[in-house]
Amino acid sequence: MRDFDYVVPKSLDEALTRGKKPDHRFIAGGTLLVDLVRLDVERPAAIVDLNAVLSGHIRWAPNGLTVGALAKNSDLADHPDVKRELPALSQALDSGASPQIRNMASLGGNLMQRTRCPYFRDPGVSECNKRKPGSGCAALEGYSRMHAVLGASDSCLAVHPSDLCVALLALDAVVRTRRSSGARELPIGDFHTLPGDTPDIETQLEPGEIVTEVFVPASGFSRKSAYVKVRDRASFAFALASAAVALELSGEKISGARVALGGVATKPWRALEVEAALLGRPPTRQTFEAAAKLAANGARTTPNNHFKVELARRVVVSALERAAT
Ligand code: SF4
Repeated sequence: MRDFDYVVPKSLDEALTRGKKPDHRFIAGGTLLVDLVRLDVERPAAIVDLNAVLSGHIRWAPNGLTVGALAKNSDLADHPDVKRELPALSQALDSGASPQIRNMASLGGNLMQRTRCPYFRDPGVSECNKRKPGSGCAALEGYSRMHAVLGASDSCLAVHPSDLCVALLALDAVVRTRRSSGARELPIGDFHTLPGDTPDIETQLEPGEIVTEVFVPASGFSRKSAYVKVRDRASFAFALASAAVALELSGEKISGARVALGGVATKPWRALEVEAALLGRPPTRQTFEAAAKLAANGARTTPNNHFKVELARRVVVSALERAAT
């Protein structure tokens, strides 16, 4: 591990100024950054600790849930209001990482998660456009079983690893940030960017901009929500495919639907065609299976990851059945 300065800012404004420097990195729970520094993927000159200038509040109100960026994954997953009002959120958090990591990892850090592509995490591999722009992509001709079938480009097909962000997408969450010019809000669907020709750019955040809160609005479908994740082992594994869904029922018909996919795309992925196919239909297995056929429309597969197309359909059906009960 290389030497770096450790900075504890006295104010959010000082953190914003420090964070603008290209060789400075923010830290909160540290479950991601410390890993990457140890691996020599990240080589910061200074690490700026946000724990003194942000908050970890978790507040439920009639209009929705407000969560501070420092909220720990385990506190958010176990919060009684979250379990009752936004079950998909609680289930997604519970399915991620290990209990020890959930006790340390923060909401803001979860939004900023980097990919688990093994080539990205190995500085010994010279081809990785995300780590070293313009160097190529080792996964294109390499081992790509865990990689994306949706949203990929010729530059990068790395999967976005978060479970939480998939649930936030299905629940129409809004990310609140601070930058030097003031506060702003970004819908979670716009927060992460597609790789395109610049896979090193992963969010809409400007240099130095800091996630301060996430707001999840109360809605007609948030209570009837669920998260289902399929992975190689029961704990501490990233999704091969996952789905967060939310349903609103009027009588015997589906009047509102949200479907988001994880583990299969380069960013948390909204399945709009599946949502449209559910509307006005009865909440039956037949309806769910017919709609789920559209889940991976537009998929681009490799010989290693083509199984994800069928797996995505199946997790959508499973999540819809769980939400409907
Ligand atoms: Fe790098 Fe993306 Fe290719 Fe992985 S898939 S090697 S992160 S460019």
